[in-house]
Amino acid sequence: MPETLLEIADLHVHYDTVRGKSRAVDGVNLTVYRGEILGISGESGCGKSTLAAAVLRLVKPPGYIGGGVVRLHPRDGTSIDLLSAEESDVRRVRWRRLSYVPQGSMNSLNPVMRIEDQFTDAITAHSNFSKRDARRMVPELLRQVGLGAHVARMYPHELSGGMKQRVCIAIAIALKPDLVIADEPTTALDVNVQRLIIQTLADLRDQMGMTLIIVTHDMAVHAELCDRVAVMYAGDIVEVGDVRQIFKEPRHPYTRALIHSIPKVGGVRTRLGGIGGNAPSPLAWPQGCRFHPRCSQVMARCFADTPRLLPLDTTANGSGPSPIVACHLYPEQDGSRVTTALTPVPQ
Ligand code: SF4
Repeated sequence: MPETLLEIADLHVHYDTVRGKSRAVDGVNLTVYRGEILGISGESGCGKSTLAAAVLRLVKPPGYIGGGVVRLHPRDGTSIDLLSAEESDVRRVRWRRLSYVPQGSMNSLNPVMRIEDQFTDAITAHSNFSKRDARRMVPELLRQVGLGAHVARMYPHELSGGMKQRVCIAIAIALKPDLVIADEPTTALDVNVQRLIIQTLADLRDQMGMTLIIVTHDMAVHAELCDRVAVMYAGDIVEVGDVRQIFKEPRHPYTRALIHSIPKVGGVRTRLGGIGGNAPSPLAWPQGCRFHPRCSQVMARCFADTPRLLPLDTTANGSGPSPIVACHLYPEQDGSRVTTALTPVPQ
């Protein structure tokens, strides 16, 4: 089995609103393995960005952590629960062991500072490097994301959107963290630049052995970049699997509907199947399976009985993590599940 880098157990993130408690992340369990690229997918509002922020303990009021454990096992052999540790201990881990490329990060660069000063700020704030040493690191970091050393002397407004995004990625990897979490790293970029960003992230994993979590609703990015995909719906994970399995043989009806809604280039033209209904509100998730109001395979027990996220095919090859799914279509047997026959996904 691959080595575990990050364990998330029963994580809850809530927001107090005037209309009540919003349960944006509600009981998430997830394991991230060293060296992999894990995609987190799902519709807008499903809680994936809140999950990413919670892992870094960056949830701000009125949001707060409602419970759970986020345990990081860095390369140095230590282990830290990022939710219960002292803030000073979390600061020691941030950027050195765990860094973040936030959503819309290219707009987070300071417009009145040269790029190299933004690097030195981040490096000196999270390490013992002097400003001079930090400045010396900048050309190599820019090279690693495919940018020339001259970019160091430029201001953000002199860079294209794709260049700014690569600068943000370079700042995130400056201290060679074990894990980088990138939230919607390709949003608002044209497809050619998206391709460059995807290639940059893939190269970083291959050359530096970095582990990446990519949060995006764009299934094409998952298909291009990720080793495994975790699908979120209504504040919880409903399926996790190898990227090939997710796209070729999705188990959960929500994952199947997501895959079915991706336009295909070539082949017979067919009408795309959308997902009926609306995403539920985090103020009042549906009882039982949260997907039941929209599920085409809903059964009587789905209305009241919440399915647990459990592994499938436990007798299958032991070389990697089993696919896991939360759905009553897969009956539990002695705490594990067996697969049932599936309708083929339209190609
Ligand atoms: Fe559909 Fe029931 Fe499975 Fe939920 S548990 S996805 S409602 S079949």
